[in-house]
Amino acid sequence: MTLDPENPEAFRRAAHRLLDACLDQFEAARDHPWQPVPQAVRDGYRLDHGLGVGEAELAQRLAAEVLPHGTGNTHPRFFGWVHGTGLASGLMSELVAATMNANLGGRDHGAVDIERAVIDWARSVFGFPQGSSGVMVTGTSQATVIALACARMRALGPDCRAHGQGGAWLTAYAGAGVHNAAKKALELLGLGGDNLRAVPETAAGVDIAALRAAIAADRAAGARPFAIIGSAGTVDLGRFDDFHALADLAQEAGLWLHVDGAFGAWTRLAGAPWRGLTDGIERADSLACDFHKWMYVPYDCGMVLVRDEAEHRATFAARPSYLAGQSRGLAGGEPWFCDYGTDLSRGNRALKVWAALVAYGPDRLGAAITDNCARAAQMGALVAGDPHMALIAPVMSNLCVFTADARLDTVGQSALNTRIAQDLQLSGEAVFSTVTIGDVTGLRAAITNHRTQAQDVDRAIAAVARARDAR
Ligand SMILES: *Cc1c(COP(=O)(O)O)cnc(C)c1O
Repeated sequence: MTLDPENPEAFRRAAHRLLDACLDQFEAARDHPWQPVPQAVRDGYRLDHGLGVGEAELAQRLAAEVLPHGTGNTHPRFFGWVHGTGLASGLMSELVAATMNANLGGRDHGAVDIERAVIDWARSVFGFPQGSSGVMVTGTSQATVIALACARMRALGPDCRAHGQGGAWLTAYAGAGVHNAAKKALELLGLGGDNLRAVPETAAGVDIAALRAAIAADRAAGARPFAIIGSAGTVDLGRFDDFHALADLAQEAGLWLHVDGAFGAWTRLAGAPWRGLTDGIERADSLACDFHKWMYVPYDCGMVLVRDEAEHRATFAARPSYLAGQSRGLAGGEPWFCDYGTDLSRGNRALKVWAALVAYGPDRLGAAITDNCARAAQMGALVAGDPHMALIAPVMSNLCVFTADARLDTVGQSALNTRIAQDLQLSGEAVFSTVTIGDVTGLRAAITNHRTQAQDVDRAIAAVARARDAR
């Protein structure tokens, strides 16, 4: 008995039909915005009926019941949160990855070589020195845990792996707009989320004088400052810190500099003026970023880079005897990726990135990133040109945060913007998300969508105006 298809010919026919259904859906992405899942379909997902029906019926159900009910981020007017679009190359690479079913925890095989190639490519894009290490992870959340674990190791020394951190009171620093992933990482590492100090920001990122003062105040109170977390693209407003200034201060104060570049790090591939937003990022001790947002590859796919391979390895390497490396055979191929992070068994995330780079190249991907910034600027100009809309913050990269009607008081604006976001999502016209800045909840567009064209931005802002005027 195996679980392989009983009838290989029938499986092949069913798989080809399913592939066609996927390609049809892919080609018609413009016709498929997010829509709520019908209750009957939801009920159908329950695993209390229809089990064990074989691959042919599975293929039908996948095409009819699963495929149409995604997040909608494949649609060109999806601007909510920070969602990547997906790529045709991803369809191909995911098919191959599923067929290979490689485990990238380590050992000597081609998939590991591909991950090394991707890490090395990213290392050179971000200007990290040769010999820096990296590992593909689920996303920036996990990457941040790994990076800050390395930072903690530097602060406390390798003994903390065996003995814990005792009473050490470690503090970290970030601009107030830093993503919650940083706080969560401190919580998970046992450092305490409150020990992430929120430093005031200006339009140019973290206020350096305030940061220096916060570090000094904590030192005076008996804490051990250990890390500064810079942001390349804050999630609320798309702000970028001044990485040279942060690196100078980290050096002066003897702290680890980590950069959360989840989406914004990829402006490194964009044209002027956006490329310059990440100047100095090469001086960080670690960098977390996602490929599944602004490199458009399928979920999930993130990466952490660590400047000093020895520190990275010392934080995570552990090989019980059954995992011992060998000088030849399948158990060769050092270094193993399991020594750079929390996961032993690992899927083939790198292949999606490799496939995107082979198919489109950094220049076309960079052109899409540049165009996304131009579309955000276009949206900002449309908002500024509308008699009643207003920007809540200047457009700096690919984020546009605005209010649909500045004539109302803040409570009225917040209610209106929230309703418009919901209405446009439900009508399928466009997906904005919302964010509260000060005391106004505004509409927020984060354009990380290579399908978004100028006409989509025009249409989305026209829809906002219509929804506002239809009150
Ligand atoms: C999305 C995001 C994160 C979290 O990354 P995940 O890939 O969702 O885990 C962290 N920081 C910023 C700025 C983000 O946009």
